[in-house]
Amino acid sequence: MNIVLLGPPGVGKGTVAAILSQKYAIPHISTGNMLREAVAKGTALGKQAKEFMDAGQLVPDELVTKMVRERLSQPDCRKGFILDGYPRTSAQARALQEFAAVDAVLDFKAPFKAIVERISGRRTCRKCSATYHIKYSPPKKEGVCDRCSGELYQRSDEQPGIITERLRVYEEQNKPLIDYYRNEDLLSEIDASYHITEIEKIVKQCDEVLEKLKS
Ligand code: AMP
Repeated sequence: MNIVLLGPPGVGKGTVAAILSQKYAIPHISTGNMLREAVAKGTALGKQAKEFMDAGQLVPDELVTKMVRERLSQPDCRKGFILDGYPRTSAQARALQEFAAVDAVLDFKAPFKAIVERISGRRTCRKCSATYHIKYSPPKKEGVCDRCSGELYQRSDEQPGIITERLRVYEEQNKPLIDYYRNEDLLSEIDASYHITEIEKIVKQCDEVLEKLKS
């Protein structure tokens, strides 16, 4: 099952992807996490990506596509994958089609205000990338990851000014991408306006689409 999750930053794709990944035993591939890891390690890709990411801009298509292509060729993707954060442009969607057949595209939707609140309260673990929200899903001990005891931090691109820029970039790039997948008849809308404490309502909608694929 090859799944693509679409939706603005902060809409809850990552949280839902982690749940679906466990449930369907296919890897959750987040290009944002992969790029942040590359930046943290100081790899050649990380060095090229950093300035775009810090400004809330997209990393050039060819760099991200090469990274995703390599990742999808790993043995753990043979049964399928959940792509979170890729494709982000219609050029990326066309590139993806050349090396993987997408079975379903889930388009997550939520109001702008809820998204900004979710992102600005988010904290991420430096070690394992687990995410928390200072108000809605805080860690047991402030600043420390429940899972691995890593340090929690606020991503530089999750400060208010940069969030607005990321949402602007998203709006600009998203329409052609949605049109592309609608034309391919792969698109399903997911109402992601629910609160994080009601995440199962979002997961249920995804399950309904994915179960149909299995039958
Ligand atoms: P995310 O965590 O998915 O919001 O991604 C964080 C940042 O990584 C984005 O603001 C972009 O700078 C970069 N990024 C992630 N995925 C892509 C992609 N598919 N194309 C271009 N840039 C990306």
